Amino acid sequence: MTLDRSVTAAYSPGRLADLVGTMLERATRGNHGTLLPETLPSIVQLGHPVLRMEAQEYTGQLEPEVLEALLEIMRATMHAAPGVGLAAPQIGLPLRLAVLEDTFATDAEIARVRERESLEYFAIINPHYQAVGTRTASFYEGCLSFSGFQAVVERPADLAATYTTPTGETIQRKFHGWQARILAHETDHLDGTVYIDRAMTRSLVGAEEYASRWAGADIAAARAGLGF
Ligand SMILES: [Zn+2]
Repeated sequence: MTLDRSVTAAYSPGRLADLVGTMLERATRGNHGTLLPETLPSIVQLGHPVLRMEAQEYTGQLEPEVLEALLEIMRATMHAAPGVGLAAPQIGLPLRLAVLEDTFATDAEIARVRERESLEYFAIINPHYQAVGTRTASFYEGCLSFSGFQAVVERPADLAATYTTPTGETIQRKFHGWQARILAHETDHLDGTVYIDRAMTRSLVGAEEYASRWAGADIAAARAGLGF
């Protein structure tokens, strides 16, 4: 499948800098120094072509202080949503940047079954990942750019990732369980892949049905009830 080149070429370095500049101008701090949610960028939804592009490798297109400010905006946008990860294309920027953080309190049994451990905030630039071993995990996941739905995705349970930090350090790090799922989901966004591309489509559910029927620790009930 190919994308119209004129679509990706439309995001010249100058246009990217302008888009980021507008976000920085709009973002306003409240009395406590935190960014006010209503001044943050909107999260684009499926159907916007930026979600289907191969995002551009980050090669210093933004000044270091602009990059730092953008990542702060991305983190605040992720918190406001709320979500556990946000990739730059989700705010309309086809750049290989994402932020991750999962410090939500989770029911102990669900956390155990899903291998969901707390993940402190970090930003990833130009990330790559590969599966380690053959262990996989299948659970419901959702996406801030496909609001109101969840579906089951089988993903590697253990993976090795490489990425650059905002200060230019190259990191190699292993991720397991839910953390591996978040890392893979956000990195996939940078290749124009949304989780529904990898999902078992019969498992797709609306938020209310998910919450009332299928939010158990594992997917056994949903598998039986929906036939996937
Ligand atoms: Zn997503």
